[in-house]
Amino acid sequence: MEIEAQRSDRSLKLIYGEEVYNKIIQSNVLIGGAGGVGCEIIKSLSKTGFRKFTMIDLDTIELTNLNRQFYFRKHHVGKAKSACAKEGVLLIEPNILQVDAILGNIYDPKFDDLFYKQFDIAFCAFDNQGARRHFGKMCTVNNIPMVEAGTSAFNGQTQTRIKDLFECRNCTPEVKQQTSFNVCSIRTRPSEPIHCIVWASNMFNLIFGNQDDSNLLENYIQDIFKEGIKNVQDPKEKALQLFEKIFNEDIQKCDEKERFPISFEQSLQIDNKEDAVYFDERNNRKLLEDEKIFTIKEYAQKFIQAFLDVFHHRKEALGELKFDKDDQLALKFVAAITNLRTFNFLNKENEKNKLRYLSEHKIKQMVGNIIPAIASTNAIVSAIQVNEAIKIMKGYAKTKPQLFSEYLVQNGDQSKITPAQLSLPQLSCPVCSPANCYINIKANCTQITFGQLKQIFEEQYLAYNQIIKIDDKVYYDPHQISLRKIFDNLLLKKISELPNYNQDYTKFKLFSIDNQITWEFNLMHDSSLQGQQVVCDQNSDPTRIKQQQIQYIKLKHEQTFKEKIDIFKRYKYI
Ligand SMILES: [Zn+2]
Repeated sequence: MEIEAQRSDRSLKLIYGEEVYNKIIQSNVLIGGAGGVGCEIIKSLSKTGFRKFTMIDLDTIELTNLNRQFYFRKHHVGKAKSACAKEGVLLIEPNILQVDAILGNIYDPKFDDLFYKQFDIAFCAFDNQGARRHFGKMCTVNNIPMVEAGTSAFNGQTQTRIKDLFECRNCTPEVKQQTSFNVCSIRTRPSEPIHCIVWASNMFNLIFGNQDDSNLLENYIQDIFKEGIKNVQDPKEKALQLFEKIFNEDIQKCDEKERFPISFEQSLQIDNKEDAVYFDERNNRKLLEDEKIFTIKEYAQKFIQAFLDVFHHRKEALGELKFDKDDQLALKFVAAITNLRTFNFLNKENEKNKLRYLSEHKIKQMVGNIIPAIASTNAIVSAIQVNEAIKIMKGYAKTKPQLFSEYLVQNGDQSKITPAQLSLPQLSCPVCSPANCYINIKANCTQITFGQLKQIFEEQYLAYNQIIKIDDKVYYDPHQISLRKIFDNLLLKKISELPNYNQDYTKFKLFSIDNQITWEFNLMHDSSLQGQQVVCDQNSDPTRIKQQQIQYIKLKHEQTFKEKIDIFKRYKYI
């Protein structure tokens, strides 16, 4: 093994040259996501000479992952994806690789600026937009070049993100329409209504249809329907057993923190009229049956009734049924499951939890198809990512930026890879525009007052007389004359006495209304500092931040000037 490693080292040196090779082996690499694309990336990177990896993923391995995620075996089911990817890659090269596998949520505040700053390059392999945007933002703000990829069945895409050179992840607004769904979210932790719908329709197919292995919930309720659905003697008893298993027992077993298991008996007590909708207030009309949203008590009864209806009225097709949104009976059953599962995971206190109860009519509208991931598409996009990473290692961001591209991958019968020009950063981007100043400072929060800090914001960072917020709560607003006394009172307080003070990080956001500049101050407490003393990190140096603001204002004027010329040209003044 050792000799082989040396041999491959020698050939890598020949390919890249000593300098680039050294850069590669010393790079600290961050990989977001340890799924299909993430596993491909770490494999190819380790074969390209990269040695030091940190991999984050919050998922555990499901049976359905095994067909395309080659590091995972049957005995890994239920274990953390990142840890198993580490195990897999270390099996091949145990001596030289250093892999830190983290089972965690990318939104966790512990993955802060300091965490990101330790990396030289990052790869994004998350499968949902929210995580991608957040990961993209953290990489951009901390100036880490990032290569991103995503796939959906036969289509894939890669894009290199380098701050101030190319468009960042957040330069384009979020696309609301989702065409494919994350299988893991459907099976274990629904966070959006569609996850519950897809789960419910799969459950329908599992109960009344052919138990083929393409079903996402494969083997899930095998024990209950051992005799086969056609041979069930007491369907009501079965329906109750099923209720107990899917809404109570299994929910109790799942790791998710926000979960609310419920037995059939309990469900009959839940008369949540506040969630139910029977009447259209706006148009003053009674809703049709399929437009109504019912209480949990009613959905529990509907679940049993709909099960019996399908069982008795679709008798000849039992064992072969497939959910069809136009089949009224099937839709009623799926609607009951969807809403009971929503109850299992709904937490109205949590803003990120987007679950809500849905009418049959709405469910019918939302039913879509799951687009599966395909191993070869994952392999192609991650190979391109690694190739882009080598360009970054060669320093092309400075010397040959024209060599970077966005790549659109089409796999399957019409296979081709199309390079497309990378867009320039958007001046209006909330993340990468020079209008946004990110500043990391330290002070002794038990000694410095809010007023003294405000003075530093103004004098050193040109943030004169701006609205100041902490966690979206206004702490100072020069325009609100009536609240003057309250603000003045806050300004006298020590930072540690402010209501939203956080010892790890207090985030101050300042906005300038006239020229759209924003400042984000990350304040860390440091007890070794005295009085009004404030220190900043290298990127937060006041001179640098001032230059950045001047650059923005210049760019903005140029843009306005260009726009004016365009208008003049259009109207033939010049
Ligand atoms: Zn941007």
